[in-house]
Amino acid sequence: MPAIALLPDHLINQIAAGEVVERPASALKEMLENSLDAGADDIQVQLQQGGIQLIRVSDNGGGIPVAELPLALARHATSKIRQLEDLEQVGTLGFRGEGLASIASVSRLSLTSRAVGADHAWKVEAQGGELSQPEPAALSAGTVVEVHDLYYNTPARRKFLKTEATEYGHCEDTFKRMALAWPQVAFTLSHNGRISWRLPRQSSHQRIAAILGEHFLEDGLSVAAENGMLQLSGLVGSPTQSRAGRDAQYFFVNGRFIRDKLVSHALREAYRDVLHHERHPVYALFFQLPPELVDVNVHPQKSEVKFRDSSAVYRLLKSTVQQILAGTVAGSGHPVTE
Ligand code: ADP
Ligand code: MG
Repeated sequence: MPAIALLPDHLINQIAAGEVVERPASALKEMLENSLDAGADDIQVQLQQGGIQLIRVSDNGGGIPVAELPLALARHATSKIRQLEDLEQVGTLGFRGEGLASIASVSRLSLTSRAVGADHAWKVEAQGGELSQPEPAALSAGTVVEVHDLYYNTPARRKFLKTEATEYGHCEDTFKRMALAWPQVAFTLSHNGRISWRLPRQSSHQRIAAILGEHFLEDGLSVAAENGMLQLSGLVGSPTQSRAGRDAQYFFVNGRFIRDKLVSHALREAYRDVLHHERHPVYALFFQLPPELVDVNVHPQKSEVKFRDSSAVYRLLKSTVQQILAGTVAGSGHPVTE
């Protein structure tokens, strides 16, 4: 056996990138989360070749002071948590401090940012583990992150990329999920120079209609329920809107799209009496609870969570949706008119 050796930072980042940056869409997700955490209410995404050649996210958030720019690209460096107690009540989408470092280790990344109150913007570039000195740059506000040539230095990884169209599809899914959960933020998405989505700031129901279609709003049933500190809102599709696949099932916990067996099971059960077992319900549900009641640190891509009281969550979901479907709740459950 060779002797034990500590790995160089760059390689450590590349190993982490294997988990965090599975494909262009996962890099896009990290970048969008950062813009939202920075308080942006206008986010523009430009992709080239399904995100493989370029992912560019530009936002009007709070920006990063020049002294912190190199840290933003360092692993385990974050402005979002400071101590263990913070990890127990994460109020931001990010907190692991490894998104940008991971992406930078497998791409050519540039970060341009203008902190609130700064005279001008600054730009740093990262490539192959080397970071450039910050240089003055032009930007009226916020942050622009450009990720070029994803996996250019990790050919094994690059081989796993699918066609441009498939990778673009994953990026678009990521974009739509974020946009659904953040209707108060304006978003645009363009691919190879053509605009695919232009979403103004709007109400949650308007955003659902924009992303999932007017018919979803027209035939959908409005959900609004709470139980103590747990709050549930959004729309569930009527049984006639059900689909053969699970592709229109959106569930968000505190603004984060998640997949959860317990949640799907509760909703499945709620539809049991009204839906053939081969059909799948459609829904866009937003679940809010105090951050200390949910652990978000269980998955590197943060797409799973653990509820402190999962049976309370299960009961609220199932009974609320069941009642709405049965048309027994006064004041909600009727088709939405907005
Ligand atoms: P995390 O989001 O987990 O903190 P990241 O590696 O994604 O880790 O980002 C590191 C830090 O860089 C963030 O904590 C934040 O302070 C800063 N940052 C990244 N992107 C932006 C952005 N778009 N606007 C403002 N600050 C940002
Ligand atoms: Mg982040």
